[in-house]
Amino acid sequence: MSRTILVFAERRDGQLRRVAFEALGAARRLAGEDGAVHAVLAGSGVAAEDAAALQARGADVVHIADDPSLKDYAPEAYLAALGAAMDAVRPDALLLGHTGVGRDLAPRVAAAYGAGHIADVTAIEASSGDDIGFIRPLYAGKAFERRSFAPGRPWVVTVRPNNLPPAEPADAGARGGGSAQALAYAPPPLLTAVRGVLRRASGQLDLAEADVVVSGGRGVRSAAGFEPLRALADALGGAVGASRAACDAGYCDYALQIGQTGKVVTPQLYIACGISGAIQHLAGMSQSRTIIAINKDPDAPIFGVADYGIVGDLFEVVPLLTAEVLRVRS
Ligand code: FAD
Repeated sequence: MSRTILVFAERRDGQLRRVAFEALGAARRLAGEDGAVHAVLAGSGVAAEDAAALQARGADVVHIADDPSLKDYAPEAYLAALGAAMDAVRPDALLLGHTGVGRDLAPRVAAAYGAGHIADVTAIEASSGDDIGFIRPLYAGKAFERRSFAPGRPWVVTVRPNNLPPAEPADAGARGGGSAQALAYAPPPLLTAVRGVLRRASGQLDLAEADVVVSGGRGVRSAAGFEPLRALADALGGAVGASRAACDAGYCDYALQIGQTGKVVTPQLYIACGISGAIQHLAGMSQSRTIIAINKDPDAPIFGVADYGIVGDLFEVVPLLTAEVLRVRS
């Protein structure tokens, strides 16, 4: 079965987000051998290398909307850009990252085009014919459902970062590298405008896309107590996260909070330090590939979801881990 799939290749701070390549990988598989994959690049000052990177990983056509109105995310402007691509391509499906922008944009496009919408997809089961299962977590990851679209087009799907394999250059295969073209985009009147962005978090990796997250809880005891965790995260090339109790106590910024009312992360490796494992925290990290818990209480509930548990004082264990990682990597 061949399909035409459109991917919204999200950029952030002038760079393509990794989830754009993950959506592209899914698009390539959904499109089938004879299908077509199109990508939309929207922004102000879109780099030619971004289009080339998408083409090299299997996008047959990259549609570029480059306009000052697309500098920061504005729903009306991005909806117009994506709408222009939808009209030009008339895809069977549109794929976006399940990011702040993707979550805002996807239902708007779905409503505008009368499309079905499945959000926060963590796996895609493609069998023969039209029966494609989109797997998504429910009840903060305690259950999963398999959803599929009723007959009719188009579909709008958001994919959760860090769950689907990203498109690699080899995926372009013998397709010939694809092409890039300007999109017929007319900036609409904006109802609101971004005047400035105030950054709260440090310049660390995006938590949602980090392969390794080292998180601290109330057991870290102070802002300075996060330093050993930062050193471990740096040694592993990862990002630092936190429980709500650590944020409430003022040890770190709320931008680092993971859980039901914070960010949802699914890294390859999650290291929970001094975190008890309340259900609201598990909601944001229990789908991580491998979980290591460090806690001095052997009965802490976090050990119930951990693949590896270390019963001990985090201030002794974390520096030992960091030293060992640095030794192995040197
Ligand atoms: P605690 O539960 O106090 O645990 C601290 C742990 O540190 C203990 O297990 C202790 O044994 C261990 N410890 C102490 N010292 C050391 C040491 N030196 N070495 C090793 N271990 C040590 N929480 C979230 O995290 N994210 C959310 O999004 C979130 N949303 C919520 C939404 C609602 C509506 C509600 C009601 C609560 C929410 N919470 C959330 C709060 C949640 O219920 C817990 O209170 C919180 O997760 C506890 O954080 P903690 O594990 O860091 O602290």
